[in-house]
Amino acid sequence: MYSILNSEKRCCRMKEKEYHGSCHCGSVQFNIVTDALELTTCDCSICIRKNALMVKVHESKFQLIKGEESLTEYQFHTKTAQHFFCKSCGIYPFHRKRVSPDFFGINVYCLEGFSTDGIPVRATIGAGMA
Ligand SMILES: [Zn+2]
Repeated sequence: MYSILNSEKRCCRMKEKEYHGSCHCGSVQFNIVTDALELTTCDCSICIRKNALMVKVHESKFQLIKGEESLTEYQFHTKTAQHFFCKSCGIYPFHRKRVSPDFFGINVYCLEGFSTDGIPVRATIGAGMA
């Protein structure tokens, strides 16, 4: 019985949903579609300072609605990852990942109506990557 309930729960979690995201001042607006199977934190030098909790989405499931001109880009180390910030309010809404540049890491706290309840959080190790 338990396993049936459990698999139903998993099944519901796997449903993809569209979320709207924005920075604090609203200059940057975007939509993502995600099944939100897991969230990630990262211990690299920038993520740890941002205290970021992220969900990963493929670029095909990410749509920037507005604010391209409001985004400023910060790169360091291998310069593969692109860390974006809003020029006006300084919020980090998303970044392009270094290990998989066709994926975005999205700041889940920028998403409207996104609940982190019950979603496992995986701590990724960015600091140790050469
Ligand atoms: Zn802003």
